[in-house]
Amino acid sequence: MTIAIVGAGLGGLALARVLHVNGMDSVVYERESSRGARGQGGMLDIHSGRRALREAGLLDGFHAIARGEGQDMRLLEPDGTLLLQEDTPDDAPLDRPEVDRADLRDLLLDSLPEDTVRWGHEFTSAGNGRLDFADGGGASYDLLVGADGANSRVRALLTDACPAHIGQNVVEVGIPDIDRTHPDLAAMVGRGNYWVLGDGISLAAQRNGDGRVRIGISFYNTAENWFATSGIPFDDPAAARARLIDLLSGWDPRFTALIAACDDTIVPRSITALPVGLTWPSTPGVTLLGDAAHLMPPVGQGANMALLDGALLGLALAAHPDDFPTAVAEYEHEMFERTGAAARMSAKMKDMLMSPDAARKMLAFFQPDGA
Ligand SMILES: Cc1cc2nc3c(=O)[nH]c(=O)nc-3n(C[C@H](O)[C@H](O)[C@H](O)COP(=O)(O)OP(=O)(O)OC[C@H]3O[C@@H](n4cnc5c(N)ncnc54)[C@H](O)[C@@H]3O)c2cc1C
Repeated sequence: MTIAIVGAGLGGLALARVLHVNGMDSVVYERESSRGARGQGGMLDIHSGRRALREAGLLDGFHAIARGEGQDMRLLEPDGTLLLQEDTPDDAPLDRPEVDRADLRDLLLDSLPEDTVRWGHEFTSAGNGRLDFADGGGASYDLLVGADGANSRVRALLTDACPAHIGQNVVEVGIPDIDRTHPDLAAMVGRGNYWVLGDGISLAAQRNGDGRVRIGISFYNTAENWFATSGIPFDDPAAARARLIDLLSGWDPRFTALIAACDDTIVPRSITALPVGLTWPSTPGVTLLGDAAHLMPPVGQGANMALLDGALLGLALAAHPDDFPTAVAEYEHEMFERTGAAARMSAKMKDMLMSPDAARKMLAFFQPDGA
């Protein structure tokens, strides 16, 4: 029985690894040409996903790459008021450590037999037990798992649902080697997350393992074509930074200083999500996991859910190695319930970030008893 996984992201790799640990083979088809072909982005906050790493036998490896101090948090208002500062003691348990996405992906990739991942295989279509790739090649499968992320092509085999814009547009910028280049700003941001929540705009800065501070400036209640009308010239980084500073008019100069210190990497990111609670009728031979199944607003659930999906589908298949339809039905039943709850929670968090007085609401969320 051949298990074909499309996509070597966190979810697809967690599935391949848990199958491997349970003595089952799979093949992962990935469109990128190699593991380093594309930057993997910044830090991930891993909480419920730790269970997946335990099932994968990779918890020790995870602890070796996790950054406990990345749990530090500072929450501020645009006028500079510090609402909350949480510094993680050295001996604190690793409840929600931050990990570099590239390190986590490497941990999973290195845990698989060499020929498991087939790089440079872009899935285009499937039917009658055969997969087709963009280069004209093909392969056969008994079970096809779409782990191909937000813009999944496998998804169309199960549902017509597509991601829709959620009224959030993010501009990503960053300061490289901040300790050396801007020690004052490094001290201000601290070791973990630094959030400034304003009315319709937020700034989230996060220290990465390589010394870069990544900064996402979110513009809420904005339309899908907002980048075209925002006046941000993405082809002229210095002018784009100046425009971003204009858009933060009235914000404390310490925050705009962060933007002025950024390098020329400026990435626009239009945020979409799938309908909350999306399901499909169980279909023999095909299923989905991760963002392909339940793309959510980016508030810290997606990677955790993708890891769990992969691990739990792997365990279900290991429990029913001769009956994939039963394994898939069991997996989907649990996955729909778990990820539906996570999607509802993510939507609530997104609504909070988009609302007036977001900073105070977030403070109340973190300190419900006003402590
Ligand atoms: C800026 C940002 C910050 C985030 N921070 C967090 C966080 O702190 N915590 C958290 O839990 N989540 C976070 N998330 C969400 C998280 O990154 C995703 O939910 C998670 O990566 C989904 O994993 P996945 O395996 O489903 O998909 P992906 O990681 O997107 O992997 C999909 C893979 O499929 C491949 N692929 C796509 N199409 C094809 C094709 N046609 N053929 C073959 N291969 C294909 C892609 O190249 C990719 O390798 C964040 C997301 C963003 C954008």
